[in-house]
Amino acid sequence: RAKNTGKSCFRHYESSMHEQALERIKVENELRFALERNEFCLYFQPIISIEKNQLSGFEALIRWCHPKYGVISPEKFIPIAEETGLIVPIGTWVLEKACQQLSQWHGMGEAEKSLCMNINVSVNQFLQPSFVQIIDKMIAKYGVPPRCIRLEITESLLMKHSREAVEKLNLIKNKGVQIAIDDFGTGYSSLAYVHEFPMDQLKIDSSFIGKINERSQTLEVVKSIIMMSISLGVEVVAEGVEKDEQLDILEQLGCHKAQGYLFARPVPEKMATEYLNKLIPLRNPVDIGADTPA
Ligand code: C2E
Ligand code: MG
Ligand code: MG
Ligand code: MG
Repeated sequence: RAKNTGKSCFRHYESSMHEQALERIKVENELRFALERNEFCLYFQPIISIEKNQLSGFEALIRWCHPKYGVISPEKFIPIAEETGLIVPIGTWVLEKACQQLSQWHGMGEAEKSLCMNINVSVNQFLQPSFVQIIDKMIAKYGVPPRCIRLEITESLLMKHSREAVEKLNLIKNKGVQIAIDDFGTGYSSLAYVHEFPMDQLKIDSSFIGKINERSQTLEVVKSIIMMSISLGVEVVAEGVEKDEQLDILEQLGCHKAQGYLFARPVPEKMATEYLNKLIPLRNPVDIGADTPA
């Protein structure tokens, strides 16, 4: 190879930009066909009630099982799906599959009827005019109680489109469907209006939880979020709980629920169904070897 000059560095940089652009086009094209080719699937991650030390429900998390590239993380394709508008049909597919799964679990017994399903909703999906009708349709089709469906939205939705979004959220909430604010703390939402969000649940972003046992400042922030949630009458969930020390702290702070690798990773339907049998202590998870894609 020639001398490692500034120029060759530049060229290397340029070519990697080019590769990235090519990869992006490839993903975009393949994404268009993924639905009809039935390449998506849902994984389910348990959400645990800390007070009861038991399973309270699941979060549905999409995976793209590509025949050539294997399992692709939503972090790679959801942003592209958003930009291209493909998020609308993909999001509808997620809603349908999640409701279908919940209805199946509810049909397994009395205890199972208390299970809730958290479903992620993208901004553009939420803003499509037919969104509320689609929710109605899925609830009716699968006969799931609206209160067992919890839509996860991000703070950015409420920031960018506040009036329209708040009206639509209220419409959905009036049907009994619950609303969760996902990744709370990362979206620069203002304390001046956080109390006006029509929310039932607040999910503290994993970036905070990962540091509560290490940084006292982070601990104080999490403590404030939990105290605020409790006084607003909103259920509070810690995301990304990986360590026992973190769970102990959260329990002391009065956090209602937790989700994270400490309990279980997101797993396919069959493995998730196995969790229903051992609803009780999930604190020492069975290693079932499922994983989140890179
Ligand atoms: P999210 O909604 O905040 O979901 C939580 C993410 O954290 C999931 O990543 C989950 O696997 C991961 N996670 C859970 N516990 C732990 C832990 O203890 N440690 C670590 N390091 N990670 C943990 P995943 O499944 O890769 O999803 C990433 C994001 O993609 C989601 O973040 C969500 O924003 C988006 N997403 C996933 N499924 C859907 C979907 O069906 N629709 C839409 N619109 N977005 C989705
Ligand atoms: Mg989520
Ligand atoms: Mg989250
Ligand atoms: Mg997230």
